[in-house]
Amino acid sequence: MSLYQQLPSIDKLLKTTEGAELVTQFGHTAVVNVCRSLIEQGRKAIKRDQQLPQIFTDVQHIINEIRHKLIQQQQVNIQSVHNLTGTVLHTNLGRALWAEAAQHAALTAMQQNVALEYDLHAGERNHRDNYISGLLCQLTGAEAACVVNNNAAAVLLMLATFAQGKEVIISRGELIEIGGAFRIPDIMQQAGCKLVEVGTTNRTHLSDYRNAINENTAFLMKVHSSNYQICGFTKSVSEQELVELGKEFNLPVITDLGSGALIDLTQYGLPAEPTVQEKWEQGVNLISFSGDKLLGGPQAGIIVGKKAWIERLQSHPLKRALRCDKVILAGLEATLRLYLQPEKLSEKLTALYLLTQPINELLAKAEKLKTALHDKLGNDYIVKIEESSAQIGSGSQPLAIIPSVAVTLSTEMSGKLTALLNHFKRLPQPIICRVEKEKIWLDLRSLASLERLLDTLKQL
Ligand SMILES: *Cc1c(COP(=O)(O)O)cnc(C)c1O
Repeated sequence: MSLYQQLPSIDKLLKTTEGAELVTQFGHTAVVNVCRSLIEQGRKAIKRDQQLPQIFTDVQHIINEIRHKLIQQQQVNIQSVHNLTGTVLHTNLGRALWAEAAQHAALTAMQQNVALEYDLHAGERNHRDNYISGLLCQLTGAEAACVVNNNAAAVLLMLATFAQGKEVIISRGELIEIGGAFRIPDIMQQAGCKLVEVGTTNRTHLSDYRNAINENTAFLMKVHSSNYQICGFTKSVSEQELVELGKEFNLPVITDLGSGALIDLTQYGLPAEPTVQEKWEQGVNLISFSGDKLLGGPQAGIIVGKKAWIERLQSHPLKRALRCDKVILAGLEATLRLYLQPEKLSEKLTALYLLTQPINELLAKAEKLKTALHDKLGNDYIVKIEESSAQIGSGSQPLAIIPSVAVTLSTEMSGKLTALLNHFKRLPQPIICRVEKEKIWLDLRSLASLERLLDTLKQL
């Protein structure tokens, strides 16, 4: 019998008792597809190695492999990881963790019908943003609000609605690129408006804006410079000054605030971020910001501002394409409700909880982690607790350091550090960390759950 003939047929596999059970459990189509690809792999291996692969020597082995593949096929690839990078709002790791209240609200919205566009009291149609906009107005003082998928969408919608075919004046120092190819000039182009850059990279004066105004100007725009800072000989124009200038020419001012804090972070000893309220009070017409940065909620783009302007955004056809679904809106509403009880915020809003954890709590966690690592790794690695520098992340105050605590791992044996990093990555819930000064840094400020981490480490 040739090697190829020793490969089983699909039919033969399906007719075994266990094959039939697999069909009952996973359905005919999936089982046949997996059988076919396995046999095909067998053929290729025979061609390459001139011998029958081990697993085909026994039907039981083949069935086990098929079952394994069928189970694996259903495993979600968006895998959970432990964030020990020290960057709390890590864009590559999914930004803000949802508060418990937001998780519950979202789960309900997933499982049940919700009165998303239905006013229960009046018994008539309602707008889906209404739940959120009332809250946002209460929290920020603004007159109205609009919610879309993310802040990039919010900026696109503002530009497309008010500046299509017109000019937008913006400082050269604010023509930023944010990770993931969000570039202000590109968004302007997409929205069909003409960018008028004023000033220089480091200095822009009010007169620069004034000189650029003409009859085709749609508005004056400010973009929060998020992920970078210009230091040294600099000058930028504040929203307040721009609003004054805008009034002279009857031009609105629009701000892309990026993170958009709703509270003064300095009360927690954190670096100052401009707040949405502050910009509204300065007279800015529309302010946009993200839902999943400092706000600590789901991915969303929020625009607050003057009622007449928000109404125009709401009736632009793009709004329909950019609107949020019920799950996000429910999560966002629950997140915003937490802001109504500000004293409880650092306890209940996960992002703020992580950012404000006192050093002694981080130290206590570090002790437990150090012990667990030491037990696992023995004397091959030096395990220490060290002072560390965490960051807010997501473009908030890129240079500001938040004091933190890390467990560090170092070794004199070359290659051992890389080997350990690879082990970390292959854990059921991989560990993501920093490597600095030839040490692995496990920063505890960004860690969601020490319990889960210790559980994972049992498998190291
Ligand atoms: C983060 C950021 C954006 C993009 O926001 P997303 O919610 O990620 O779409 C836009 N502008 C600024 C200034 C930002 O900081």
